[in-house]
Amino acid sequence: MMKTGKIVCFFLLFPLLLTAQEKGLMNTSHSNHVKLKNVAMTDVRWTKGFWAERFEVYKDTLILSMWKTLNDPEISHSFRNFEIAAGEKEGAHSGPPFHDGDFYKWFEGMASVYAMTNDPKLDSLMDRIIRTIGKAQRADGYIHTPVIIEDRNQTNEETAFSDRLNFETYNLGHLMTAACVHYRATGKRTLLDIAVKATDFLCRFYETASAELARNAICPSHYMGVVEMYRTTRNPAYLNLAKNLIDIRGMVENGTDDNQDRIPFREQTTAMGHAVRANYLYAGVADVYAETGEQKLKENLELIQQDIVNRKMYITGGCGALYDGVSPDGTCYEPDSIQKIHQAYGRAYQLPNITAHNETCANIGNLLFNWRMLQLTGEEKYAEIVETALYNSILSGVSLDGKKFFYTNPLRISKDFPYVLRWPKERTSYISCFCCPPNTVRTLCEVQNYCYSVSDSGIWFHLYGGNELNTTLPDGLKIRLTQTSDYPWDGRIAIKLDEVSKEKDFSLYFRIPAWCSDAQLKVNGKPVNISLKSGSYAEINRKWAKGDIIVLNLDMETQLIESNPLVEETRNQVVVKRGPLVYCMESVDMESGHTIDAIMLPANIQLTPQKMEIADSPVVCLEGKANVISDNTSWGNTLYRPMKNEKQTISIRLIPYYAWGNRGKGEMTVWMPVSR
Ligand SMILES: [Zn+2]
Repeated sequence: MMKTGKIVCFFLLFPLLLTAQEKGLMNTSHSNHVKLKNVAMTDVRWTKGFWAERFEVYKDTLILSMWKTLNDPEISHSFRNFEIAAGEKEGAHSGPPFHDGDFYKWFEGMASVYAMTNDPKLDSLMDRIIRTIGKAQRADGYIHTPVIIEDRNQTNEETAFSDRLNFETYNLGHLMTAACVHYRATGKRTLLDIAVKATDFLCRFYETASAELARNAICPSHYMGVVEMYRTTRNPAYLNLAKNLIDIRGMVENGTDDNQDRIPFREQTTAMGHAVRANYLYAGVADVYAETGEQKLKENLELIQQDIVNRKMYITGGCGALYDGVSPDGTCYEPDSIQKIHQAYGRAYQLPNITAHNETCANIGNLLFNWRMLQLTGEEKYAEIVETALYNSILSGVSLDGKKFFYTNPLRISKDFPYVLRWPKERTSYISCFCCPPNTVRTLCEVQNYCYSVSDSGIWFHLYGGNELNTTLPDGLKIRLTQTSDYPWDGRIAIKLDEVSKEKDFSLYFRIPAWCSDAQLKVNGKPVNISLKSGSYAEINRKWAKGDIIVLNLDMETQLIESNPLVEETRNQVVVKRGPLVYCMESVDMESGHTIDAIMLPANIQLTPQKMEIADSPVVCLEGKANVISDNTSWGNTLYRPMKNEKQTISIRLIPYYAWGNRGKGEMTVWMPVSR
């Protein structure tokens, strides 16, 4: 049993005028334990370049083609469930129990696009949807369409919180996050009012539920959701609820590593279990730390992040190596037993390529976790993972035309692979488990929110690209700047200060990525005399003025990356990286008569960047000469054969990993054998 305190409608007291930081994707303006704060969702606009081109695709196709899917009960019953629960349509619930949460994720993406475009069509569509969601909500604030529809139809086979696999708290968490984003994007309280009632319901539920029921949560998006509701409404009961959610985790008798509740969170120092649930939990705990400053939480998060990055993460930022794993750690009560874990973090260094699971949602969770750690600390190592996941294992989740999606993100595809893995290896417009597509939508429609942070001392540059920033610092200083860059294809970034509201010393912090070994920084044409260390932020403190121009050059040398030899699957192989992008080889680019399995890269390979288009989207590919290491005889039904030492040289082309699978079905590999 837990106390959440008296629930007061603090929200009504909330001021009408919000500061820039209060209108960020996350509102950490009053969070005492963050170093960096967000800019408003309306403050950054893409102008020209990579993300401007991507956003053009996302703002229409990604949002509206998915609405067609979600609003067509023949394909997805997602919105129809809300209509039935609202009494607007007749019928029964259909689809997985987490369908509501997936709908809210898409809705959040639409609100984020609206923040950028002010498109009245989106505004009226959101209003229409909110009316239906409002009617579907029970008077006590509970909202979960499988149960509400059963109540309405008086079939009563589903009851609230009866089964953790009903995903109620997951759904409610995404409602809360979507509502906060909608409120900040539109200034309207319609969805937020619904989320306040739902959060109040959750507070009351946790006050009165039995211990077993209270611990009944899976895929904890509600940690992030409840904290964001606290930040929006300042209702202390919500923060109390979030803290208690951590306290009770691990106290459940039948806890599992699968759900990260076999042991209490404060005893967890390594990443374990279902990778989506794990990363959502870590992101949520980081949010709680931002408000409470409980040191133990941060210590564990730092250890877990290092365990992921140094032992369990793919080079693409992908998380969750195994379709089905096991936890040899056993349970509290049966130490000899082995627990099944699906979509699992592998053991340390267990990183297969063809059978890599890497659910897009887990990779997004990796971004959410590391973004929060970056805000807490200002340490570049977290920005590195945000960028790596975004450009590689998240962007790979959607086709370049914005219409088709991956659930899993393998690092190798072979036509000879002899069994069917659970999820399609070609992007499809609908997946029966529709969690990743809307999650990808909201994340990619929100990328502009990950470009900058502000602190008391100035502005932090995290992700580069052509955009305009128009913001106000916490001390009231107004700043407008233009960033011009062809990043990630080119490492030159030019920034012009278009407006600085008053003369004052402040700092600009430029991220020097860990992958960049040679960076130069100039202000108004003159080199700056500060250290430009890879994997850090370079701070320039001065009296900035309108018209100042900063040019940052990040060397984008192509690199061959090898893995720790404990990763058996990639022994004597390398990955080609250029800037933040991981490259791969696709069979469609091979000279006829050769397969990608036969390619060996010489360690001194010269790779030349070349512009090309894939599915009408501009990319930079890499071209060079490699060796073919075997003959073309088929392996047939054999496992081993004597090696022939035949070699010839052929031309190869590598493309960015995120762009693979956009030119029909074929083979692909990220890792390639290397000869020194
Ligand atoms: Zn997913």
